[in-house]
Amino acid sequence: MEYCDALIVGGGPAGSSCAWMLSRAGLDVVVLDRARFPRDKVCAGWITPQVIAELDIDPGDYAQTRTWQPITGFEVGLIGSDHSVAASYERPISFGIRRCEFDDFLLRRSGARLRLGAETASLRRVGACWIADDALCAPVLIGAGGHFCPVARLLNGTDLTAIVAAREIEMLLDDGEAGASPVDPARPELYFCRDLQGYGWCVRKGAYLNVGFGRRDPRALPADTAAFVEFLRARRRLPPAASSSAWHGHAYRLAPDAVARRIVDHGVLLAGDSAGVAYGESGEGIRPAIESGLLAASTIIEAAGHYDRDRLQPYADSLRRRLGASAAAGRLSAIVAAALPAAVARRLLASRWFVRHVVLDRWFLHTSDVALVA
Ligand SMILES: Cc1cc2nc3c(=O)[nH]c(=O)nc-3n(C[C@H](O)[C@H](O)[C@H](O)COP(=O)(O)OP(=O)(O)OC[C@H]3O[C@@H](n4cnc5c(N)ncnc54)[C@H](O)[C@@H]3O)c2cc1C
Repeated sequence: MEYCDALIVGGGPAGSSCAWMLSRAGLDVVVLDRARFPRDKVCAGWITPQVIAELDIDPGDYAQTRTWQPITGFEVGLIGSDHSVAASYERPISFGIRRCEFDDFLLRRSGARLRLGAETASLRRVGACWIADDALCAPVLIGAGGHFCPVARLLNGTDLTAIVAAREIEMLLDDGEAGASPVDPARPELYFCRDLQGYGWCVRKGAYLNVGFGRRDPRALPADTAAFVEFLRARRRLPPAASSSAWHGHAYRLAPDAVARRIVDHGVLLAGDSAGVAYGESGEGIRPAIESGLLAASTIIEAAGHYDRDRLQPYADSLRRRLGASAAAGRLSAIVAAALPAAVARRLLASRWFVRHVVLDRWFLHTSDVALVA
C-alpha cells in the first residue's frame, strides 16, 4: 500500500490547482487521472484574467511554446439573424488557450506525484483513511473528476439535476483557411438561441478554430446544433473542408447545483465540475474549477490533519460565498430569459448597452469579481 497526505481524483484545472496549493504547503499529494496527459477536453478554451493572478501564471513564459490568444472584444448576435453587435475593450479581457496544453502545464507544475492512464475504479473508507483501488491510502480525498467523477457519485449518487449539454469541434486551419476566415482571433463570436437557453461560439486561437454549441435542454441539442452549423456555413465561418462528424459532446452542471449538492463529508471534498460550479449564464467552468480547487486546498491546510466533516465544512461555506451570488443571479436570469418572448430577446441582443453591460460584463466576464486570494 502506498501512502500520501492528500489524494486527488482528476487532473483537470480543479485537481491540479488544489494539488499546486497543497504541494506548496508541503503536503505529499498524489493525482490520479484515467487519461494520459497531455489530454484534450471538450471546451472552447477561453479563460478570464482572474485565473492568471490566482495561479500566478506568467503569460510571456506560457506563450513561448503554447497557444495564448488575447481577446479584446466579442461579436454577439442571434442564431439565424444577420444582425450582430460588436463590443471592444481597451485591454485583454479574456484569453484563448488549448486545453491539451493548459491542463498539461498546470498538472506538470503542480508538484504532485502523478498516476496517469488508469481509471479509479474503487474507493473505500477504512477508519480515517481513503483507499483507492486497494493501492493508495490518504486521510483526505478530493473529487475533481469532472462531470463523471467517481467521488461525486459516492457522495450524491447518480444526480439527474439540470445540466448543460454541449458539442464542439476544434480544428487546425491551414494558411489558406486562416487567411480566408472572417473570424477575428481577438474577437470571438457568440450567437444565442432565440429562447436564450443556449448559445454557439466561434473562437479563433492562433491557428486553431473552435466552434461549438451548448444549451440547457439537452433534448433540443441535436436539432439546434444542426441549425447552428447551417447558420455558420451560410456566414462562411466554417472552412468548406470542416467535417460535420468530428464534433465531440460533453456536459456540465451549473453553479446553482453547488448550493444544493453535498460537496463535503468526512475526509472528502468535491471541486470543479464534480461539485457543479460552472457559471449558469456563460458555462464558464475553468475559473470556478480553479477557485474551488484553491479553496478546498486552503481548508485542508487549515484543518491540519483533522478531516472530519465539521473541519471541512468551511470549504462549502467559502464556495457558497464565492459563487452563491453568481448562482442566484444565474438562476434568476435563466428564469427571466425563459419567460421572455422571442421578440424581446431579439431586441435586447440588438442593444449595445445590454450586450456590453449585461451579456458580456456581467454574464460572461464577471468584471466586478476580483481575483481570489485563497
Ligand atoms: C463544450 C464545452 C465548452 C466549454 N468552454 C469553456 C470555456 O471556454 N471556458 C471555461 O471556463 N469553461 C468552459 N467549459 C467548462 C469547462 O470545460 C469545465 O468546467 C472544466 O473543465 C472543469 O474542470 P474540472 O477540473 O472540474 O474537470 P475536467 O477538466 O473535466 O477534469 C476532470 C478529470 O478527471 C478525470 N477523470 C474522470 N473520471 C475519472 C476516474 N474515474 N478516474 C480517474 N480520472 C478520472 C478526467 O480524465 C479529467 O482529466 C466548457 C465545457 C464544455 C462542455
